[in-house]
Amino acid sequence: MEKLRLIDVKKEFKDKSVLSGINFCVNEGERVSILGPSGCGKSTLLKIIAGLLDHDGDILLNGESIKNTPTNKRNIVVVDQENLLFPHMTVYENIAFGLRVRKVDKAEIDKKVKSLLDEIELSGYEDKKISKLSGGEKQRVALARALAVNPQVLLLDEAYSSLDTNLRGKMRELTIRLQKKHSITTILVTHDKTEAITFSDKIAVMLNGRFKQYDKVKNIYELPINLDVAKFMFDRNFININDEVIFIKAEDVSIIKTDDKVNDRRSLCFDTVVVDCEYVGSRVLCTVNLNGYDQLLTFECDKKEDFLVGDKLRVFVSDFISYKL
Ligand code: ADP
Ligand code: MG
Repeated sequence: MEKLRLIDVKKEFKDKSVLSGINFCVNEGERVSILGPSGCGKSTLLKIIAGLLDHDGDILLNGESIKNTPTNKRNIVVVDQENLLFPHMTVYENIAFGLRVRKVDKAEIDKKVKSLLDEIELSGYEDKKISKLSGGEKQRVALARALAVNPQVLLLDEAYSSLDTNLRGKMRELTIRLQKKHSITTILVTHDKTEAITFSDKIAVMLNGRFKQYDKVKNIYELPINLDVAKFMFDRNFININDEVIFIKAEDVSIIKTDDKVNDRRSLCFDTVVVDCEYVGSRVLCTVNLNGYDQLLTFECDKKEDFLVGDKLRVFVSDFISYKL
């Protein structure tokens, strides 16, 4: 069932267009990421959804326009990097805050806060001051505070970007667990591809204030709709051949050791020279120069392969995507 729909949402700041015609639909209980580089308009879009900025176009929540609904009546909650918890209040008071504002019964607040503390694994932290918490603990409290009010939509704006990699992964797992348990429609905004891929059901790739592709994670990964999306999602292996750009995924490259002819319409073969070999733990990242094209291709191979710079290799490309220029 459709939860949130954006219809041709536009935003200008002092005549500079920041969002140009965003159309977007999120279903009930879905986890969606908006993925794009810094400055492409992600936070502006979240603020618009939360009701913190005016805009052109319309927003429907449960099928009804909320364009003229003030922020505090939308029940759409934002958690961001700074997680502005109330520093003078305890953990308990922070989580209870939204419920108190809504005049929820005291016993019910107590039950809800205790159960959320249990879910974020901070039982016993009720009376702790926010200033005594670590960064990760603060983020967990911010998440619990957001979930306490049973939001219509949860918006996460680079919420975990300031945490170190390990902690970030743990927060992501916790968020997914709680999001599923409470079946809360959630939109995560991030510039981090791995974060978007591991968090979401669907990704909207956003470049320069526009959604370039909105699809299931697998489809975005398998078939980026155009060269801009492909170049944003993948850092390398774009080979210019005449008026085409051939994009090759590292996992589709292997080394041919025999002189067997390869007869497959979707495949390519290149004679190459090794220019770099880098150990990345269990595998070796090998970069070769394609003879006749003078362009680089990088792929992973078994760490038992002991290539030296200058070695000649014949590589087999089992699949590729071509984009017309
Ligand atoms: P992101 O979150 O993707 O990094 P933002 O939505 O914060 O991007 O910003 C998008 C663009 O809008 C940037 O160029 C930024 O400088 C501009 N911008 C954001 N907020 C304002 C504002 N209040 N006034 C003027 N320009 C703004
Ligand atoms: Mg931002």
